[in-house]
Amino acid sequence: MSNRRTQVVVIGGGQAGLAAGYHLRRLAIDFVILDAQTEPGGAWQHAWDSLRLFSPANYSSLPGRLMPRQAGEEYPDAAHVVEYLRDYERRYELPIQRPVRVLGVHREGGMLRVETDSGAWHARAVISATGTWWRPFLPAVPGRRDFGGRQLHTVEYRSPLAFAGRRVIVVGGGNSGAQIAADLTLDGHVDVTWVAQRPPRYLPDDIDGRALFDVATARRRALDAGRSDTGGVASLGDIVAVPPVRAARDAGRLQARPMFSQLTVGGVRWADGSEAGAEAIFWCTGFRPALSHLAPLNLRGPRGHIPTDGTRALGEPRLHLLGYGDWTGPASATLIGVGRTAREAAREVTGLLS
Ligand code: FAD
Repeated sequence: MSNRRTQVVVIGGGQAGLAAGYHLRRLAIDFVILDAQTEPGGAWQHAWDSLRLFSPANYSSLPGRLMPRQAGEEYPDAAHVVEYLRDYERRYELPIQRPVRVLGVHREGGMLRVETDSGAWHARAVISATGTWWRPFLPAVPGRRDFGGRQLHTVEYRSPLAFAGRRVIVVGGGNSGAQIAADLTLDGHVDVTWVAQRPPRYLPDDIDGRALFDVATARRRALDAGRSDTGGVASLGDIVAVPPVRAARDAGRLQARPMFSQLTVGGVRWADGSEAGAEAIFWCTGFRPALSHLAPLNLRGPRGHIPTDGTRALGEPRLHLLGYGDWTGPASATLIGVGRTAREAAREVTGLLS
């Protein structure tokens, strides 16, 4: 196995890794991006067929290059994002190695050793940008093992076709749950029960991803200035009323029931004893950051996060975390938001190297 050296290893070649690469290149840093996928596009390659961005193309752009409009669509689909990312990495000649999976990051003398399934890299700094799609979260609910049907997560959803004539329970009152429930109910061939922990909270119809970025930024500024927490995006609501969700809601197809108390062999049961049968349950219950490759550094804080100051890991200044959520920078888990935190991370890393 080969053993290579570079100044910076970026782990992950999705949008966050590419944004980091863009800024490292501008700062003339020697780096490599290691990505476990065989093709460009990160998690967008695996999105369901009807998924649309919650912002128009020009509000979904990485640094340096506006996302072009998708013909006939105000809100682009995932395939359009994949093409944009493919073009982006080619345009900026980003040094990406695929498929390379990072197995572990270790301290070794003054360097960090990045152990992969195709050899080791030694670097003076690491930017981890591995996203969350790869760690679906399913809550612990009584009876989970008893249910006789299929249990699936958001990451496994493609289209309603596979569920025609079936009873499906969709769990989750966030964007994924609302969008998948809307999609499944579209042509009336699937019997859908939508379940949410609390009554669905839609953002106002005129608010899309454009406003979310501003709200996340205002919150971060308030917190940094020692002012009280504005509540950020969560204070506005949980669900962006993208056109298909709005249509389903207005047609009365999105009536959420409260969370059930347990799974049974044939479906679910609520605390009042009522039941619903199902052949499949979709858990649209979110994700956790994909950080297992950082376990050897022993940095873990609460809820699987690693404590950071901006993007820099508190316990390891040579490590930056990019794109996982607001905890690594306001709106850094969005196409438009990741550019700014990527720039800050690249600058900090450059400062460290000099
Ligand atoms: P990813 O796209 O997940 O890329 C991470 C890359 O790292 C992947 O290629 C992965 O294979 C690789 N990787 C992981 N582990 C390793 C490892 N150990 N070694 C090597 N490589 C590794 N954002 C918006 O801006 N607009 C939207 O409309 C929008 N809609 C969304 C809808 C859904 C359903 C979801 C889940 C998210 C949405 N987001 C949206 C949020 C966000 O933009 C995406 O989640 C985006 O994919 C995050 O990019 P990323 O680069 O951080 O992670």
